[in-house]
Amino acid sequence: MRKGITVTIVAAAAVIVSLLPAAPSSAAVPSTNTFPIQGRDVSVCANSFGAPRSGGRTHMGDDCFAPAGTPLLAVETGTIAESGNDGGLGGIRIWLQGDSGTWYYYAHNSVNYVPRGVRVGQGQVIAAVGNTGNAATTPSHVHFEIHPGARGAAAVNPYPYLALWSVGLPLGNGSVIARDNGNGTYLEAVLAGGHAFPLTQQDKAALGLGPARIIPTQTFDGLYNAPISSGTVIAKSFGNGQWMEAIMAGGQAFVLSQQDKTAMGLGDAAPVPASAFDWYIAHPIASGTVIAKSFGNGQWMEAIMAGGHAFLLSQQDKSWLGLGYASPVPAWAFDWYMSAPIAERTVIARRNPDNTYLEAYIVNGRAVWVSNEDKVRLGLGPATVIPTAAFNSLF
Ligand SMILES: [Zn+2]
Repeated sequence: MRKGITVTIVAAAAVIVSLLPAAPSSAAVPSTNTFPIQGRDVSVCANSFGAPRSGGRTHMGDDCFAPAGTPLLAVETGTIAESGNDGGLGGIRIWLQGDSGTWYYYAHNSVNYVPRGVRVGQGQVIAAVGNTGNAATTPSHVHFEIHPGARGAAAVNPYPYLALWSVGLPLGNGSVIARDNGNGTYLEAVLAGGHAFPLTQQDKAALGLGPARIIPTQTFDGLYNAPISSGTVIAKSFGNGQWMEAIMAGGQAFVLSQQDKTAMGLGDAAPVPASAFDWYIAHPIASGTVIAKSFGNGQWMEAIMAGGHAFLLSQQDKSWLGLGYASPVPAWAFDWYMSAPIAERTVIARRNPDNTYLEAYIVNGRAVWVSNEDKVRLGLGPATVIPTAAFNSLF
């Protein structure tokens, strides 16, 4: 997938270069570079390469916007070839000669941190966003150019590369994202299991998290409202290098030991704020959740939750009831739920051979038939469909 994208971009760049005069070299622009603004991606850039500019000029780069002072990063390892104020259009600008042979130009900076002639590593902070030069009256941004092969070589459209380099920051577990509230404030969150957990500055420090990546508001809000997926491993920090881990299943978090993790074949945990971790530990597991325990030999036992009690499921039951994937939980939690009493007033249902459902609710630990009218009158909630044998045994 990634390889396919790379090939496409390189091919497109080759076409552009071939159309431009005086392109002395065909040095490939690296696909694995770092995005030039810390914590940002291509969504802050205007795709305006080639647009007309004053005095008959054309725009030889793209403008990527961020608050003044936001760190600018070396997109690849190389040497700072020029640093300082050009006294003209660019203002405080920096030229980076990448080891690949491609040159990069960053203009309108508020400050440069690295002088000419110094070697820098990919991702190193070399300058900060500003609005010097002819950007004095514009919102702060970096004007960014790419010149493959030589400083004097024709510039290529940076936009496809900026997009490609953004892919280097996947929105995975532990990613810190932020929403621009538009009034100079930002809302930050950490991702775990497809859900964004809001972060305070204190949380960030406790969890040792890095700078946030500002993403489009719609994407941020979608992640903020998304349910956390079952099977996600979350962790809270005790601030002394110690962590507590838990696995999510049906809206509840179950504390995990290393032994549990190994038995279930689980991967790395995503750090979340302690308040969120604790809330999910105390949150009851949702009825209808399918849980599973591992026997450690590739075999699993599955059960469906109803009213705080787990009912064993066969593969036949699962397919008959139309149930989806199970969430792994530690063996102790699985066994505890198997022996827990079913909560009073829980509504359970049995699926009949004619695809109708028979419902009942629990009174003194036993099942009592209930009509829809009864359900309304008694203020009962929705039913959880459980295996027929389990349903019948409760009468
Ligand atoms: Zn520009």
